[in-house]
Amino acid sequence: MNLSSIPRRKYNYGPTPIERLNNLSEYLDGPDVYIKRDDLLGLTGGGNKTRKLEFLVADALKNNADTLITCGAVQSNHCRLTLSAAKKEQLDCRLVLEERVSDSYNLNANGNNFLFNLLDAGDITVVPGGSDMMKEMEKVADQVRSEGKSPYIIPGGGSNEIGATGYVACAQEIMTQLFEHSLDIDYIVTTSGSAGTHAGLLVGMEGNNNHIPIVGISVNKEKKVQEENVYNLVKKTSDYLNVQNRIDRKSVNVFDDYVGPGYSLPTDRMKEAIKLLAQKEGILLDPVYTGKTMAGFIDLTRQGYFKKGDKILFIHTGGSPALYDYTSLFQ
Ligand SMILES: *Cc1c(COP(=O)(O)O)cnc(C)c1O
Repeated sequence: MNLSSIPRRKYNYGPTPIERLNNLSEYLDGPDVYIKRDDLLGLTGGGNKTRKLEFLVADALKNNADTLITCGAVQSNHCRLTLSAAKKEQLDCRLVLEERVSDSYNLNANGNNFLFNLLDAGDITVVPGGSDMMKEMEKVADQVRSEGKSPYIIPGGGSNEIGATGYVACAQEIMTQLFEHSLDIDYIVTTSGSAGTHAGLLVGMEGNNNHIPIVGISVNKEKKVQEENVYNLVKKTSDYLNVQNRIDRKSVNVFDDYVGPGYSLPTDRMKEAIKLLAQKEGILLDPVYTGKTMAGFIDLTRQGYFKKGDKILFIHTGGSPALYDYTSLFQ
């Protein structure tokens, strides 16, 4: 698969490292755990949306847009990174935030909200949980047009076929690294949220005839719904990139046991996972995505799903800035 003809901006500095987590592996006494450090990607605070934005912003510029519009939860990493890309490209940016937990928007909150203010997000639109976010963004787009400007809407999480292409590229990067390090991985473990990361990795791996099983841990939706979302995006992304292989529905595999009471709401296992990675490896996870995903990986290991001798690649999708809005949980 050749991505070189697809418009792309460059926000990263080369492949993110893959490291072996020696202390965590020893502590769990199970599989060998490796981590792909996508928390170290470019733009403000790094994380998986930076890979997607390389392709999304390039498409916006190709369409002569001057204003990026996107949406997310009140502590959205995707909104922070879209705003950061907009600043770098000298574009305007309008954020629409969804209060998935009611009354959760607080202008003075820490974490990503602090960064929205520091990067000067301008007018932020806040809407109640369950709103039709595409419709809300269209309203903002109409307003932007009425000001004589040209909007470009990026869907939630940057998860359409253009954004997912960032994770097709990541899969190719991983394959090169595994080859260089002579590393034979048995499973890839990733968060499955708005699905672009999970779907992109699947298209990148399967599309290149690499069948390492990819295990998605849901942070929001139930298994059936999430697998359907991922598979739909797999098909769209495959069409967009003219992938010849038909990717089997069975390769989409999601666990939904680690969501807890709901999206962004804390669980004890998430807290344990965040403390473990901090104290054993000096690596920061986040409470909304990677903390719950690591909690899932640890529990699946304890249940024997991942076995001693297995080699696991955990994708660290970022998010640590959000941790600073959850400090009271850890005091
Ligand atoms: C958005 C996000 C995810 C989920 O990725 P999707 O592509 O939306 O499934 C995982 N981790 C972090 C830190 C994120 O911000």
